[in-house]
Formats: sequence, structure tokens, C-alpha cells
Amino acid sequence: MADGQTLKTKVVNTFDPYAVRAQFPILSRQVNGKPLVYLDNAASAQKPRAVIDALTATMEGGYANVHRGLHTLSNEATEAFEKAREIVARFLNAESPEQVVWTKGGTEAINLVANGLGLSIEPGDEIIVSEMEHHSNIVPWHLLRERRGAVIKWIPVLDDGSLDMAAYADLLGPKTRMVAVTHMSNVLGTINPVAEITRLAHAAGAQVLIDGCQGAVHATPDVQAIGCDFYVLTGHKLFAPTGIGALYGKAEALEALPPYQGGGEMIETVERDRVTYAKPPHRFEAGTPPILEAIGLGVALGWLAQYDRAAVQAHEHALYQRAVDRLDGEGWLRILGQAHGKGAILTFAVEGAHAHDVAQIMDRYGVAVRAGLHCAEPLAKRMGVTSSTRASFALYNTVEDADAFVDALIKARNFFV
Ligand SMILES: *Cc1c(COP(=O)(O)O)cnc(C)c1O
Repeated sequence: MADGQTLKTKVVNTFDPYAVRAQFPILSRQVNGKPLVYLDNAASAQKPRAVIDALTATMEGGYANVHRGLHTLSNEATEAFEKAREIVARFLNAESPEQVVWTKGGTEAINLVANGLGLSIEPGDEIIVSEMEHHSNIVPWHLLRERRGAVIKWIPVLDDGSLDMAAYADLLGPKTRMVAVTHMSNVLGTINPVAEITRLAHAAGAQVLIDGCQGAVHATPDVQAIGCDFYVLTGHKLFAPTGIGALYGKAEALEALPPYQGGGEMIETVERDRVTYAKPPHRFEAGTPPILEAIGLGVALGWLAQYDRAAVQAHEHALYQRAVDRLDGEGWLRILGQAHGKGAILTFAVEGAHAHDVAQIMDRYGVAVRAGLHCAEPLAKRMGVTSSTRASFALYNTVEDADAFVDALIKARNFFV
């Protein structure tokens, strides 16, 4: 077991989680009489003061509907809203802000693509997903199976939690239309070789959608380096409000995609028997968009950019590793996912205890973890569990959080023996 002080010193030298933590008001509250230890970051992350203040300041001082008015407030809101789009484009290393479509979250972004692609799906066309996908990147493709006769093929997950790349290469063929794979598993923490997945798919003539809901937070979401046609992120896991997500698309991929919903803002002209559509990204943004939420996402990414990505990843991984090291040799614990280079998500099954009970007992000690299927039922089946408990680390977690997690887990386990 690593010595706490040494680890803490090592982490603080490169990155100061305590200074980060101090910017999150909610993290100083108590839960059940204990200091909050928030380890449900893979479900949703907390919000820094910068984001909270920016939303209030916008509502108090610069809010109106966007694009419509010629008045000052509308112009100010539009400017802030479009600036947020530029920030997302930069965050993803997109070629241009026009390649960033606002959605209400990760789920809607994937549905937008599936819906558009669905119009040209013929019975027998194939969609490849992996066994580790979130339901958000499974069910939209099931809709195409039910409605259009698409065939879903599954990339197997190996025992260590990595993808079986040889099997993937064999699944690709002339009927493959789309490969939709997660950048990082929200259960196993596995970071997938998305550039290689994309290269192979393109060689087979298929498009690629990368679900970056976790990857955008904990991996490197460089869409040009990956080469994918679509990349999806969600704001609420990136320290921004709920109700905002983004779909990146290659210019030609967005250009070829039919509209998703109809309404104001997505049109060029509307006549009684004819309609023409705006260019991307506005073609996909019918109605009043999530203005405050988009501005909040821009502020959150601007806030995040002050921290070195590699240092943040190293910090999160050190916390994960500390918990794993302290639990080493505990025969009652089964950790799901040990792939090389994985991110800081620790999902586990406790022998003889239900995951929900484990989470509820840990909550008594102020430790917030998730339990259940984690929106990934095919993966649970593949790993041979009916449910599991998950601790997921963020940049504001500390070595004290990792230790409180291990202590609470051991106490919870003692209820069952
Ligand atoms: C959270 C998550 C989603 C869904 O995103 P929402 O914004 O909550 O709709 C999809 N995929 C993965 C991997 C996720 O972690």
C-alpha cells in the first residue's frame, strides 16, 4: 500500500486538487453528517463557481433570445452563444465552429445522427457498435433495426475490458454503414483506440461516430487526430449545466445529413408548398436553443483549459490507483475492467452483496457512488454481473476522497459477512 503523504505530495507537485476543489461550492457541504465525498462524476459532474456566476450574470445582465432581434441584448446573447460554439470547436480541435451543433446532451446528439442516417438505411445495412456502449449509443441504432431493417453487429469486449480489435476488423464489410463506438467506457474506464477504429472503418467505406461523453472529460478529444465523422460530448459531465451537448461533424458529413427536427431557426425560406433549410450547424438547431446552457458550457471549458490535461489525467489516475492498491488482496472484490491505460473509473462487484445495498451503506458515510447497470446492460451481461457499484474520479477529488471511499467500502462489506 502506498504511503498517503508521499502520494499526496507527488500529486500536489504537478496539480493542486485542493485549489480546484475550493471552487466548487457544493463540495463543502455535508451528507448524513459527514463531509461529502463525491465519486459519481461519470453520471454527472459538479459545477465550479465560474459557471454558476456566469449563468447568473447572463440572466441578470445580458439575456435575450438569440439570432432574432436587432436589439442590444439579443446581440449580446448571440455573441456569447456563438463564442461558446467557438470554444467547443477549439476544445475538440475542429476545423471550424460551423462543425459544432448544439444538442440537449449526448443522447440527443447520437439520435440526431441515427435519425438522419436512418432515412437512407436499406434492410440488411449494418451498424457496428461495441459491447461496452452506453444505452444512448445502442438504442438509437435499435430503432433503425426495428424501423429500417438495419443489422447491429457487436465488437466483443475481452476479459481485461479492452475491445477485441481482430474481431472488429472481421465485422467490417461492404454493408457496414456506421461504426458507433465509445471513446471511453463509462463502466470499465477503458479508453478505446478510436483513431485506429476510424481508420479501419473508413477503409471499409463506413462512417464513424465516437461517443465522447466520457472521452471528452478524461481522454483527448482531438477530432482531427481521431479522424471520425462525428464526435459527441455532453455538457453536464464537463462541469457545465444539464441540457447542453454538442455534436461535431466533418463538414461533408453534416452537409449530407438531413434535418432532425423542423421549426424556427433551421430554415432559409418557408413557403406554403416549399421549404429550404439553413446550412449546418443551424439546420440541426430547430427552435430556441439552450442559450444559457451553451454559454455555461463555454465557460466550463474555458475554466477547464487552465489546467494541463495530462496533469489532470495523472492526478485522477493516481487516485484510482491508490484505491486499487489499498484494496489489493481483498478476495471479495471483483474489479471490472483493467485495460492498459484505462481512465479513473473503478467499477466493482462485492461478493455476497447487492450493488445497491453497498452504495446505500456508503452514502451513510457521505460517499456518493453509483450502483446498477450504469446504462450498459449488454456489458453487464458480458462481464457476468447483474449489477455493480462505480466510483468515478474527477479533477477535484483528493487522496482523502480515495481513502474515504476505501474505508466506507470496507465498512459496507462488513455488513454482509
Ligand atoms: C452520460 C453518457 C451518455 C449520455 O449522455 P447524456 O448527455 O446524459 O444524454 C452517453 N454515453 C456515455 C459513454 C455516457 O457516459
